[in-house]
Amino acid sequence: MAEVTLDALVKRFGDVVAVDGISLDIPDESFTVLVGPSGCGKTTTLRLVAGLERATDGEIKIGDEVVNDRRAYERDIAMVFQNYALYPHKTVEENMRFGLEQHGVEESIIEERVAETAALLQISDLLDRRPAELSGGQQQRVALGRAIVREPDVFLMDEPLSNLDAKLRVQMRAELNKLHEKLSTTTVYVTHDQIEAMTLADQIAVMDAGEIQQVGDPTFVYANPRNLFVADFLGSPSMNFVEGTLMRRDGSLVVDAGPFEHEVPDSYRDALDGKLGDRIIVGIRPENVTLRPDGLPALVEVVEPQGEKTVLELDLGDDVSIKASVEPDVPVERTDRVNVEFDRRSLHYFDADTGESLTYTPAERSEASEATLR
Ligand code: ATP
Repeated sequence: MAEVTLDALVKRFGDVVAVDGISLDIPDESFTVLVGPSGCGKTTTLRLVAGLERATDGEIKIGDEVVNDRRAYERDIAMVFQNYALYPHKTVEENMRFGLEQHGVEESIIEERVAETAALLQISDLLDRRPAELSGGQQQRVALGRAIVREPDVFLMDEPLSNLDAKLRVQMRAELNKLHEKLSTTTVYVTHDQIEAMTLADQIAVMDAGEIQQVGDPTFVYANPRNLFVADFLGSPSMNFVEGTLMRRDGSLVVDAGPFEHEVPDSYRDALDGKLGDRIIVGIRPENVTLRPDGLPALVEVVEPQGEKTVLELDLGDDVSIKASVEPDVPVERTDRVNVEFDRRSLHYFDADTGESLTYTPAERSEASEATLR
């Protein structure tokens, strides 16, 4: 097992800068998820670590060794792809054995590892089948099995669950979690699915346009986004953003945001004091909006029951609409008039020009993971 260190890593394809100077520590035994929208450079970063692309600049270390000049097969990694990449003419067992045979591993060890891994993944009864005779979920297990038998220093996984249906994805996600607990192999996992990222990662790196925007413990990053991009990307439905102006009224610091005005909580006062008169963006997570009889008046525009919760789209007036995540049994219908309140302690404030959070403070418990973004 090993840690992986990326230092000022750059990859250009002609004029396209796919990876734009990424520095990231992936601790030994961690499950690090690279997450971000399509085209942000996740797969390219993973392929650079795998040795499937050559870095234009910067350094990749696996353990203590700089591996930039090492070919893919010389790096002690195993990769799991979105399309599984199984050999169609080989049986499950042959698919799992192949990598070990290529590396000249002793026959008795191959047999032992294949049997153990097949048992772990509950595919022992499928060893004689060919990939075409397997369901998508079973093929996914074989692809994982082929990586696990190698006992590599690092697993690299590129959207390995995206070809599965929604239910199977959730099941395989839980299984990946358990597998990681058992094997503790350093894992770098790429996905554009923020829920997958939040549930699997012990370290999440949110990427945009070839750069890492924020890295850390997923719960911490969700609660403390550094900028508008991270705030918007994590969470479903996304955080609400309402533009306002910071003003002083009767000695208090308030945000005038059109349909509503609120006093800045004490804990944020110092951070916002220097921004008096500036345009700022207030961020409100939908789960922090509640229906209260004495709250702001709002018109219900859309009601979306989602099972465990209901999402409301609410018109606050002045062209400001927000979403609220409420209990599923709240008796609300479209065109109803309701009253809403925001949990003031969980508001976020961003600079409207730079998009940077004005209230982000790294928590003590996250200092270790923050330190990994150097
Ligand atoms: P997705 O989620 O869609 O797979 P991604 O975040 O993994 O996206 P990458 O595949 O790493 O993104 O691509 C990053 C950028 O680099 C994109 O603009 C892409 O078009 C470009 N790119 C990737 N590979 C190549 C290539 N071989 N040649 C030219 N441009 C490339």
